[in-house]
Amino acid sequence: MSETIFTKIINKEIPADILFEDERVLAFKDISPQAPVHFLVIPKKAIATTNDITLEDEALVGYMHRVAAIVAKDFGVAEQGFRTVMNCNQDGGQTVYHIHLHVLAGKALGWPPYQENLKS
Ligand code: AMP
Repeated sequence: MSETIFTKIINKEIPADILFEDERVLAFKDISPQAPVHFLVIPKKAIATTNDITLEDEALVGYMHRVAAIVAKDFGVAEQGFRTVMNCNQDGGQTVYHIHLHVLAGKALGWPPYQENLKS
């Protein structure tokens, strides 16, 4: 798998506004926020897409969600609520091929993300 910009953030080769870090994951603010609170939780292990998550990654991906909730609590948005999104490949809108959990909060978010009438 080719190196992404997130590997450079993990290796501190480029700066990021880091919110949480341990040996398994890193959380940092999204550079182009789509909500009042928008941060990313990434594993330090480079996994390209959701399709590439293996059995051995299951605990890691679960832990990413726990970290999302911990950091959301730090922002004071955990009780009001937040959305976690992991985009996969082209139709999912993925642009960085190192899995990441978007965490969006700070206002009531729209739903659904797809507006076309599916019934016709
Ligand atoms: P996705 O489109 O789901 O792959 O999301 C990639 C996200 O990474 C986007 O929301 C970008 O704004 C964000 N992003 C890209 N480069 C950086 C960076 N250097 N620091 C923080 N966030 C970034």
